[in-house]
Amino acid sequence: MSSDRETGREQRIVIVGGGTGGTVVANKLATELREELDAGDVDLTLVTDSPDHVYKPIFLYVAFNRKDVADSRRPNRELLDQRVDLRIDRVVDVDTDARRLAFEGENEALSYDHLVVATGTTLVPETIDGLTDGGHHFYSAAGAERLRDELAEFTSGHLVVSTIGMPHMCPAAPIEFPLIADEWLQKRGCRDDIDITYTYPLERAHGLESVADWVTPLFEERGIGLETSFEVEAVDPDRQTVATTDGRTLEYDLLVTIPPHAGSDLASRADLGDEWIEVDRHTLEATRADDVYAIGDITDVPTSKAGSAAHYQAGVVADRIASEVRGHPPTARYDGKTLCFVETGLEKATFVSFGYDEQPVVRPPSRFVHWAKLAYNESYWLTARGLL
Ligand SMILES: Cc1cc2nc3c(=O)[nH]c(=O)nc-3n(C[C@H](O)[C@H](O)[C@H](O)COP(=O)(O)OP(=O)(O)OC[C@H]3O[C@@H](n4cnc5c(N)ncnc54)[C@H](O)[C@@H]3O)c2cc1C
Repeated sequence: MSSDRETGREQRIVIVGGGTGGTVVANKLATELREELDAGDVDLTLVTDSPDHVYKPIFLYVAFNRKDVADSRRPNRELLDQRVDLRIDRVVDVDTDARRLAFEGENEALSYDHLVVATGTTLVPETIDGLTDGGHHFYSAAGAERLRDELAEFTSGHLVVSTIGMPHMCPAAPIEFPLIADEWLQKRGCRDDIDITYTYPLERAHGLESVADWVTPLFEERGIGLETSFEVEAVDPDRQTVATTDGRTLEYDLLVTIPPHAGSDLASRADLGDEWIEVDRHTLEATRADDVYAIGDITDVPTSKAGSAAHYQAGVVADRIASEVRGHPPTARYDGKTLCFVETGLEKATFVSFGYDEQPVVRPPSRFVHWAKLAYNESYWLTARGLL
């Protein structure tokens, strides 16, 4: 980096992905490197494949008809500092030796000196037999709208909520869904006619042990059945059954899943990892290439795939790149910090906060935390801009 400073050549920072991680890192860099950007010593570009930024936590509320898909979207340009150049394009390859990005079609390649990859995860329901036809989910805008319409018609039978994908986005959403459904169905006067069963692929109800210990008696209290070590192998949409790898079968009338997730084929094409980008869990530097960072869901860091984790990682990487641009040693480190609100119904929530070496403590749910979650959902657009 110091050679660029010595030669006076402009340094080009490129960020791929206009979701939570990419947007926050772009805005933080625009603030940190304001002087260098204004002087033309640094160029900052965010490349993303959609003109809109999507705030996915809204989808949970869409399913229960409490929010609209439009509430989850804002144009990227509105959220980005004016110093950030925005390019709407899909990156198909990264040549980490030549430091160059390739795009779909004949679109012009883009060179970088510092690269941040924040391309998130991909949903792959088609990897489970019968799931696309047999199951619903709220993990995409279209999926949440379809589920909303289905739930509105659902007044009796067996609701099965099944986490299939590991890893999956958001540690909270799988348990929030049955807990909200319980109260939402009561309010609609049909809870007595509906059985709810929650299934999880591990031997306990949640990946985090303290969350599993807390939610297991809560499910019992709320009349929500629990099936653990439930590794879904196939769904039969005609018979309305879901089958596990160890031969168990569960009948359903409505199946809501956390669908399987995959990383990005960009990771393997660029040789940055096999599916997830391999990074140092503290510095977030790619282990297989120089001057490449990755943040958020696309990384292999051992914490939850959560927007809060992507946000904290963005701060660390912005700090490190700003140091590198100035020829200083980068010192910022990520400690695994993740914070998630957990709705426990229509009016109460709790939250968990944890790190690589810190297990979460689950506090009693309260109305205050529920309102804090709703307030955060509104103020998200400020945090994405880097204002909070
Ligand atoms: C229903 C639901 C509820 C959730 N609730 C919470 C919650 O309460 N709290 C929480 O912390 N997290 C929550 N999450 C998780 C959170 O949304 C994600 O962890 C977060 O969005 C990850 O940010 P990211 O920047 O890594 O990826 P994303 O936000 O997914 O952004 C990735 C971006 O990269 C773009 N992109 C992908 N590939 C390319 C390419 N090849 N070229 C160019 N652009 C590309 C995409 O279009 C997208 O803009 C929830 C998720 C869901 C689905």
